[in-house]
Amino acid sequence: MNVRLFEIFTSVEGEGILFGTKTLFVRLAGCPFSCFYCDTVESLPLESGDEYSIDNACKLIDAKLQNQTYKVNFTGGDPLIQHKSVAELAKHVQSKKIPTYLESSCFDSERFSYVLPFIDIVKIEFKTKDSDFVDSKHYNTLIDSAAKCLSLAVSAKKTTYIKIVVSAKTKPEDFDSLVAKIFDTVTKDDIDGFIIQPTFGIKEPSLELLLELYDLVYPHYVDVKVVPQLHKLIGAP
Ligand code: SF4
Repeated sequence: MNVRLFEIFTSVEGEGILFGTKTLFVRLAGCPFSCFYCDTVESLPLESGDEYSIDNACKLIDAKLQNQTYKVNFTGGDPLIQHKSVAELAKHVQSKKIPTYLESSCFDSERFSYVLPFIDIVKIEFKTKDSDFVDSKHYNTLIDSAAKCLSLAVSAKKTTYIKIVVSAKTKPEDFDSLVAKIFDTVTKDDIDGFIIQPTFGIKEPSLELLLELYDLVYPHYVDVKVVPQLHKLIGAP
């Protein structure tokens, strides 16, 4: 089995509930979607990056892994495009007693189930309707899939949190429906965080809109947080 890796690097985690932690990022190539705010467009073609055998990719991870790394983050692209390879790499990382972390749009719950046993921390990303991730015809299918992945992660007792990227285009009524769907799937006690992440550098939402969206989550989950991509503020990759 081979894997196509776009890049591997150590940086400071800039998103989500574990922002600020020293992290080895394993960025997989390939994502067929089209979010208008995507900041990793170079890694979207599956042909981007370099191809490695799993053995060689594990050796590369070992060579790149710095002391006192908090976690290894499988990102992309979307790691579920190469889910079998991610499972092998994550198994290798777990054998070194370092937590594994998956960030994905959760577009396919079967692929997610395949990887899940080898992942310790899961970020479940729910896309808003305005993200342009998929066309409106397929949007509900995508959200059903993300909800199924959320349910699987919680049932498997993984550290699980939710992230929603919002922009100036985000409509509060659509966001509210998404939040309702999430809390039809899980309770507040099932999850370890709920992050509203504003877009950066493109159609940035106003503070007024961010607070309006925050207020829609708060009745369900009082620990909701608005967290921008902090790595961009310090010029980190
Ligand atoms: S799912 Fe992620 S990698 Fe794919 S287009 Fe959207 S933001 Fe970019």
